[in-house]
Amino acid sequence: MALVTAKELLTPKPQGRAVGAFNVHNMEDVQAVIFAAEEMGTPVIVMASESALKYAGVAFIARLVQTAAEQVSIPIALQLDHGQDLDLLKACIDHGFTSVMIDGSRLPFEENVAVTREVVELAHAHGVSVEAELGRVGGKEDDISVAAHEAFLTDPDQAVEFVERTGIDVLAPAIGTAHGLYKGIPKLDFPRLKEIASKVDVPLVLHGGSDLSVEVLHETIRSGISKINIGTDLKYATTNGIKAYLEENPAEFEPRKVFAAARESARTLVLEKLRLLSIPEHGN
Ligand SMILES: [Zn+2]
Repeated sequence: MALVTAKELLTPKPQGRAVGAFNVHNMEDVQAVIFAAEEMGTPVIVMASESALKYAGVAFIARLVQTAAEQVSIPIALQLDHGQDLDLLKACIDHGFTSVMIDGSRLPFEENVAVTREVVELAHAHGVSVEAELGRVGGKEDDISVAAHEAFLTDPDQAVEFVERTGIDVLAPAIGTAHGLYKGIPKLDFPRLKEIASKVDVPLVLHGGSDLSVEVLHETIRSGISKINIGTDLKYATTNGIKAYLEENPAEFEPRKVFAAARESARTLVLEKLRLLSIPEHGN
């Protein structure tokens, strides 16, 4: 199938299921994500970060995903993740990405609104959907107090204003998740998430979806999350697949065998995650 926008795959009121969004870096990742989704019969969002695009090249990632999507019957979206460089974001649109994320979350509110609005106008003119972030999702580099942590969480009323003034299609609120692996058990603010979901009329995204328990993932879906981003878990799966293969076959030098092991490990992880994103009691 031809690629579709992320907006087309998401609903503001998820019915017991979220769409998985996975970060890719190379051909093996792309094949692992798309062929696993095909096996499960579920749509999927393939994402590339700015650093992945600088590594592989926008055109390479775009063609890889388009080629894989043509070979399956499930709908696939291709999205730029955490876009901050507007030239790179424009290059993604020019090469056929169907969705972009503009991350102005580190800017003051008015500047975040302005840059997001600018990207929405550009992207919508090309039929591309837009995700934006309000509040701050934690990162590996963040080592901050609880009070500072709460100050970064998204204010529900400000979220309403942000969505109305920018015209975005999908919102990433900050509700206490962080990118990377968690040091302890993450404290997610579910009442805040439910309030945001009840007030805004666009689908909501969970960033930092790696390393969360199935109970937490399901609670985020019940509370209104329709897209769950998984980056770190897939990186570990890929690299651990290579390590395990080389430990068992230390003399192997055939790259196809090494990368096939990475792809198989990534595919297994994606299948496992896609199963978790569907809550059984909903009969999905
Ligand atoms: Zn993120």
